[in-house]
Amino acid sequence: MDHQLRRSALAARLEDLSVDALLVTRMLHTRYLTGFTGSSGQVLIRGDGALFFTDGRYTEQSRREVPDLERITYRNPLREELPDHLDGIRRLGFEAEEMTVAARDRLAGALGDVELVPTTEVVEALRAVKDDDERAAIRQAQAITDAAFERILEHFAVGVSEQQIARQLEALMLDEGAEGLAFDSIVAFGESAAEPHHEPAHRLLEEGDVIKLDFGARFAGYHADMTRTVAFGAPASELAKIHDVVKQSQQAGIDAVRAGVTGSAVDAVSRAVIERAGYGEFFVHSLGHGVGLEVHEAPSLGRKQDDLLPAGSVVTIEPGIYIPGLGGVRIEDMVEVNDDGCVVIGTSTRDLIEL
Ligand code: ZN
Ligand code: ZN
Repeated sequence: MDHQLRRSALAARLEDLSVDALLVTRMLHTRYLTGFTGSSGQVLIRGDGALFFTDGRYTEQSRREVPDLERITYRNPLREELPDHLDGIRRLGFEAEEMTVAARDRLAGALGDVELVPTTEVVEALRAVKDDDERAAIRQAQAITDAAFERILEHFAVGVSEQQIARQLEALMLDEGAEGLAFDSIVAFGESAAEPHHEPAHRLLEEGDVIKLDFGARFAGYHADMTRTVAFGAPASELAKIHDVVKQSQQAGIDAVRAGVTGSAVDAVSRAVIERAGYGEFFVHSLGHGVGLEVHEAPSLGRKQDDLLPAGSVVTIEPGIYIPGLGGVRIEDMVEVNDDGCVVIGTSTRDLIEL
């Protein structure tokens, strides 16, 4: 994991941001830039190097996890310590999405003449492009997710509840080596599948239900995100048809992905398949999102997303059709974006499985 490369990439952006240094306070970003996994740590990125800050609880852990940086343990709030490390800094950037107005005002009071400059989407933009280690972690998270999917198929029987399946799915992911869950699993039977983000409840499985599963494992801090919709017995003919439309829509989206296209262009290609089949009004969300240290991160693929997809990003392609009272189908896979197209990471079949 080359944290030094990431810090250098960030330092190279200071001039563009019109700041002399950047104070990173979002824990996820501290981890991304240093490897530190504790709950309190900040990084000061200067043109001439970086400093790591933490409090007394993490002196030992940071010695082990952040051996390559000068580390400062502070007793007082960081704002009391920080001015000692700002020689030559006149404009200090901070992560505006992360800091409260009250914290900014306190920090400004402690910094005197140093001007605080709000920044947004700086580390996030770096995180959108995954390096080899990150891609390997995401692939492993997905491999665990695929294995759990194969095993959960044996657990379906008349009378099991959505909640039971959700618990079993989660146990299977942990058993396959997940360090945790990427997010609370969505398990929806029958008409519940018409809700895009249904919370598993006491609904019991019946013959002819569709089963929508949206779930993922977390591995080494990285997330997987996959959705499959299968049928328990023969589904209603309209649901089988919808499954086919969603599958074609997803494939069209996958075929449209490559580095340099906009998220909105891919969304439009995928959405057009559903619109042509007459279900446009039932595709009620955007097509996909980046995945990495967070399950939802940059770049986004939706109707209003003009961000270009960078080579090396990992995004989901997840069209869906949801018919109130009948049910719904979503199929979701993560893909790695490259200059020529993309590579689907998961291996689970996208054909309609009838159990
Ligand atoms: Zn999902
Ligand atoms: Zn997703």
